[in-house]
Amino acid sequence: MAQTSVFKEGDSIILVDARGRFYLRTLQPGKVERLREHVVDHDKIIGMNEGLIVSKTERDFLSAYRPTLAEFLLKIPRQTQIIYPKDAAFILMLADVFPGAKVVEAGMGSGALTIALLRAVGEHGEVISYEVNENFSRLALKNVRRFLGECPNLTVKGKDIYSEVDERDVDRVIIDLTQPWLVVPQAALCLKNGGIFLSFSPNITQTQRTVDALRDQGEFHLKGTVEVLIREWVVEGRVLRPLQRMVAHTGFITVARKREGYRGREGGEP
Ligand code: SAH
Repeated sequence: MAQTSVFKEGDSIILVDARGRFYLRTLQPGKVERLREHVVDHDKIIGMNEGLIVSKTERDFLSAYRPTLAEFLLKIPRQTQIIYPKDAAFILMLADVFPGAKVVEAGMGSGALTIALLRAVGEHGEVISYEVNENFSRLALKNVRRFLGECPNLTVKGKDIYSEVDERDVDRVIIDLTQPWLVVPQAALCLKNGGIFLSFSPNITQTQRTVDALRDQGEFHLKGTVEVLIREWVVEGRVLRPLQRMVAHTGFITVARKREGYRGREGGEP
């Protein structure tokens, strides 16, 4: 979707205050709202350029921008856990999601990872998202459209991915659901050789079962399991130190690559 920097009706924007806190809004003609000590008049923002100040008081100001993908994901309406930007960023790299790729994803949840995948595969790529809960996929689709507009290259399937995957010759299978090991046989069927399987799980027990299943399958080259820890720093005058709080845990990321079958000793890696 081509974007100019001038805001128009219906655009998503973020309003950022002096302390860096930000608020996601959709521009609606005629709407005037209070945001803390500010009065935000949408009609004044429509037609404005990005990066300008839309309200100031003695101690604070609000400037308006288009949300980055990471900012949008942090603020989307959700009915499920979502994959956070720090993990989504690594998932795109570790699964090597490239422009034009055909990606199978499950479950869609609130669509956070779906949006990141769609952006990475681009308009010549394709994302097929399995989600058993229609209430979730409805909201997820709304979130996708809000950030990316219409996406003809997204297919949502209300099917249980544990029992069946229709696609073949898929480049990437990326999953975030409770029993990821049950997807391993499906992933072996639908991935092309050289394709990548990636699973995100909050618990190490889920990870262990998934790694065992990948090993037993005999058609995967295990690349390993990682977690992503981000330590933010305060850089303010003489205060130069890590922030005292950090997100301690979200999930483990396991990656494997599909290859020709091989059964060595005990069916493990040679
Ligand atoms: N990655 C998503 C969150 C996924 S939450 C995001 O970033 O927003 C896990 C989702 O998997 C839930 O919505 C759940 O309904 C769905 N799910 C669970 N089992 C499934 C199955 N067997 N097939 C398809 N979807 C499934």
